[in-house]
Amino acid sequence: MEIDMDLAPLDQFVRLHGEALQYAAFFGTLVLFGALELLITRRREGTQRQRRWPVNGGLTIINIFVLALLPVSTVAMADMAAARGWGLLHWLDVAPAAALVAGIVIRSLVSWAIHLAMHKLPLLWRIHRVHHCDRQMDISTTVRLHPLELVISLPITLAVVVALGLPPLALILYEIADAGLAVFTHANMRLPAKLDRLLQLVIVTPDMHRVHHSTWQPETDSNYGATLSIWDRLFGTYRVKAQHELTAMALGLEDIPERQATSLPALLTLPFRVTRFLGASADAASPRQH
Ligand SMILES: [Zn+2]
Repeated sequence: MEIDMDLAPLDQFVRLHGEALQYAAFFGTLVLFGALELLITRRREGTQRQRRWPVNGGLTIINIFVLALLPVSTVAMADMAAARGWGLLHWLDVAPAAALVAGIVIRSLVSWAIHLAMHKLPLLWRIHRVHHCDRQMDISTTVRLHPLELVISLPITLAVVVALGLPPLALILYEIADAGLAVFTHANMRLPAKLDRLLQLVIVTPDMHRVHHSTWQPETDSNYGATLSIWDRLFGTYRVKAQHELTAMALGLEDIPERQATSLPALLTLPFRVTRFLGASADAASPRQH
């Protein structure tokens, strides 16, 4: 049976409103999950928030500007590839609806693979540890990224978009979903255990992503997914922890002291510095060996 549908109206709608929907998803979920963090808190933060939030907010604002300044978007590149018939999905003449689903799934895999590379390649880990050295985890951690992380991820994503001919519509829908899910997965909230496990069958949840922010390296090097949970299950990097362990576990990076983890200048220069703390003899910029 031929499964096809006219995607033109949806394409037209998201092209007109995609950016607004992405901001709405991000700021809407900030409000929603920010409220839920107060109602069903996973763990109490004490006074740490006063030191963390200005820094995390500063990085978020910087990154929103950096994203706006990036010279090429994945959607513009996908449009160019579509106009020229470039990429695997175009060569295979895949039906639009199937290409849309494939595009979203592949885009999710690209995100998983870039995140894996951020942990496994020492130069990229220097950049990504800005995200990981937060000693707590909540909605403010979502865009606590070094701006270089966005700059480096873009050309890799663009290359895959062109090589596989991912549909522009798939990319816009993915970005909207990603904006909301990123806030959801970092939220310091305790969903009912059964609901969290049920959602984990398809998407990444707060309980799943919290394991990734553990100070213990085998746990940090697990659950790389940002949207779909299937990639960690498929590639053997999926880890679960009991509810009480999730509440008690240490978060952050032991080799970066709190005064650095809560200083915007220190975080912006972190990738360029060799840091030695806690008597560690190894270069802390290298992947950790616990
Ligand atoms: Zn990570």
